[in-house]
Amino acid sequence: MTQGSGGTILQKADQLASFSAMENGLTRAYLTPEHKQAHQQLADWMTEAGLEVWQDSVGNQWGRKLASNPTQPTLVIGSHSDTVVNAGKYDGNLGILLGLEALRQLQDIELPYHVDLVAFADEEGVRFNTTLIGSSSVAGCFQPAWLDIKDDNNVAMGEAMLDFGLSPELAGQDARSPEEVKAYLEVHIEQGPVLEDANQAVGVVTGIAGAKRFQIAVKGMAGHAGTVPHELRLDALCGVAEMISAIEAYGLKYNVVATVGKCEVKPSAVNVIPGEVNFSLDIRSAVQQDLEQACTELFSQLEAIAHRRELQLSHELTYQAQAVPCDSKLQQQWAEVVEIQTGTPASFLASGAGHDAMVMANITDIGILFVRCEKGISHNPREQVNEHDVGVALECLVEMIKRVSSQDTVSST
Ligand SMILES: [Zn+2]
Repeated sequence: MTQGSGGTILQKADQLASFSAMENGLTRAYLTPEHKQAHQQLADWMTEAGLEVWQDSVGNQWGRKLASNPTQPTLVIGSHSDTVVNAGKYDGNLGILLGLEALRQLQDIELPYHVDLVAFADEEGVRFNTTLIGSSSVAGCFQPAWLDIKDDNNVAMGEAMLDFGLSPELAGQDARSPEEVKAYLEVHIEQGPVLEDANQAVGVVTGIAGAKRFQIAVKGMAGHAGTVPHELRLDALCGVAEMISAIEAYGLKYNVVATVGKCEVKPSAVNVIPGEVNFSLDIRSAVQQDLEQACTELFSQLEAIAHRRELQLSHELTYQAQAVPCDSKLQQQWAEVVEIQTGTPASFLASGAGHDAMVMANITDIGILFVRCEKGISHNPREQVNEHDVGVALECLVEMIKRVSSQDTVSST
């Protein structure tokens, strides 16, 4: 049964990947026709699995396995259906499909609570440059100001919601309260090489690294590439090159990962000294204190570089998420089901990537299981999982859904 179900899930992942803005690859952003099509497909599959389906105020797709006599709050299982540009098929989507198959298998089993499966419509933040919109709405963290954020085509999120058939004034109004939710479970590909290195199909997540993102502007003076000698230049890009090297050196030395992924040069002409550079900085650590310290120390280094080169430096914090621990009782339960399914003690690991679970932690206890992915590759069309591992993850999730019911209350950490 395990192997067959794993295969079914992989087939469905292929089908979902066809709802894409790209001809020969997968890109699915928030509030796009592809989002609508993928969620319609998920709704159809949810209905087939006996779930009651609905779309919420920000376009998340839900399916509920109804309990005839719920005596406990609702258990929520989910992940995200949106993708990065030219993505793999499993990041986010695998967790939704595992939840779907698990609830299909549990269709005839009576549980003391409803189980809700959710496909969050935005986690990656590709379109509006703000991440985790879907889970933020559910967890009561949706900011109405987000409705004014514009995409690259100058379409505001509120407008995009209207075009999609949603009412922007209702966005986030249907948030869940902590009393209504028993726990949140998420299964996700690891997106790193740790499980492959440990030769484990799945692993129990201890917590999610905190992250901060900054938009940094460095201003110098544009000038003629032929007439201004080097000692008289205020070359913003040369300053930024030095800053990026300092950022990399810091990440190599300390307990953080620091990445400059976006860099815009102005005026960006072959014969003009760069007068201004805007770049992004993403810093993460599983230890909140290390993250805070890294930000302070790095910015003082960047300031020193700017000062020495007579450049103006300014920065804006565009996103931050605290390091979030997973509930210890749920970790222990995942470990028990993993050991039963694999016959070996479970591996524990921290998540360096952000997940919907970290937002859901605002309203409930979270438990995450990682699935091995080939060479740890993700955010890439080469992202790959194997059928055996998906089967193991499925069995673990089915057992976990049943096991959560065997406890009266989930402990808080
Ligand atoms: Zn993801």
